[in-house]
Amino acid sequence: MFSLLIRGALVIDGSNREPFRGDIAVEKGTIADVAPSIKGGGKAVVEADGLVAAPGFIDIHSHTDLSIFKHPLAESKALQGVTTEVIGNCGIGAFPVNDERRAVLNDYLKVHDFHLPSHGLSWNNFKQYADQLDRIGLGLNLAPLVTHGALRIAILETKDRTPSHKELESMKSLLTESLEQGAWGLSTGLIYPPGSFAKTEELVALAKIVARHGTLYASHIRGEGATLMEALDEAILVGKKSDVRVEVSHLKAMGKDNWGRSKEALLKLEKARQEGVDIAADQYPYEATSTSLTALVPPWTLAGGVDELLKRLASSKTTGRLQAEILREMNQRGGPNRIVIAEIGSAKNMGLSGKNVSEIGELWHCTPEVAVMRLLQEEKAAVGAVYFSLSEEDVVAILSSDQVSVGSDGMGMNAEEDSEKSTHPRSYGTFPRVLGAYAREKGTLSLTKAIYKMTGLVAGRVGLRNRGLIKPGFVADMVLFDPVTIQDRATFDHPHQYAAGIIHTWVNGYPVVHEGRITGNTPGKVLRKKKASS
Ligand SMILES: [Zn+2]
Repeated sequence: MFSLLIRGALVIDGSNREPFRGDIAVEKGTIADVAPSIKGGGKAVVEADGLVAAPGFIDIHSHTDLSIFKHPLAESKALQGVTTEVIGNCGIGAFPVNDERRAVLNDYLKVHDFHLPSHGLSWNNFKQYADQLDRIGLGLNLAPLVTHGALRIAILETKDRTPSHKELESMKSLLTESLEQGAWGLSTGLIYPPGSFAKTEELVALAKIVARHGTLYASHIRGEGATLMEALDEAILVGKKSDVRVEVSHLKAMGKDNWGRSKEALLKLEKARQEGVDIAADQYPYEATSTSLTALVPPWTLAGGVDELLKRLASSKTTGRLQAEILREMNQRGGPNRIVIAEIGSAKNMGLSGKNVSEIGELWHCTPEVAVMRLLQEEKAAVGAVYFSLSEEDVVAILSSDQVSVGSDGMGMNAEEDSEKSTHPRSYGTFPRVLGAYAREKGTLSLTKAIYKMTGLVAGRVGLRNRGLIKPGFVADMVLFDPVTIQDRATFDHPHQYAAGIIHTWVNGYPVVHEGRITGNTPGKVLRKKKASS
């Protein structure tokens, strides 16, 4: 008797090969058999006529690092069919922590709308962070990356300079420690201070260590608009010089002047692959980006951290220069009327959430750039924003590539408990949107290819050896969905809407979604990468 038997599903196994109709048997959390017809019974039997069975989706680009303490079931992800999230992206994450710089890391995380658990950052390294997460009981699996932002803060605080030889050695040894403990690689966020203060040589030195451990180097590259090509060149160079596997995070062409350049970007990556660099990318399927409002201020203003930024915002000496640079960046991103305030902390300004920067300027009788400065000052830089700065044509071109994984760039949320928060719909809709809006309705790509880009392809990039395929011996991370009704429902106006069409989600063989509802089970765990030799 199997623990679970799925009968008569359309199996799309994650390898990009043709779908077939068949049964799937699970025993002890592992896929025991996949065949047109399996004899024997199951303690649980699911009749799956008309439904698609696929490997659980692996979200290669997630930011659930701290939200997981509040929502350990990561409901918005489980109801998309996600079973593993790669966290610690964009250089923003929770470890390593140097006791003397704990407050600096706290500030950094707050700027990026990461809400600290009530007990604060009560760990120092990957192992302690992972052990704590395992103790709270997780709905899904997490595969954390070490973040360059946290590494730099641990050694250099938020200083705008190159590390000395000794400091670089300290960063390298902290990175090595986390990788030895089982972290899945390193991420950089090269538009966000202090990551943006790093020169290419620093990245290469760290990437060599990542390569030695056979793990992933994921980069939010230095520019995604006017300087997209140069930024890609830097990522390629890091790959070339260090031999590391490179993932370009959330590939896009930002700002009207750059619309259409996605094709050039994809060609550049293809050329690098032909030259032997193991480089690919991921993407979320929306025309708007979302990040901290501090993305509008130039990096020099953030040297020394949030307190220094607030001083510079208040200083009459820098006002003129700051206004000009903020205006330029706003225009790069589509203009002030296409930048909408999302997350905001204070009760006083709560009503501004959902308004664009032009509207706020009118309300305050000032220019949009002055409104941005005032908002950052009043909220101590902790303001989230959504930027409508991408074109559908580019979204489709990038989505069509089978070298590009699907990743949400969102976090696990709970629609009821988070209902007051403004956010980007990608946290709720990414995967069903690709399957529904793009594969079924627009025909941008086949269902088989879409699933490959969420499973088999991703497992290979991350180095997850026994996940991402429906295949005997693989872990039973699986999703069963209705291909006719699968659809994202979260919108920019109403983001807290769970997706439709996910019937069952299993993590490590246990149901976390059953007949469309969260079960409350916590079979998830923090995955630790085993050493290559073991
Ligand atoms: Zn990013």
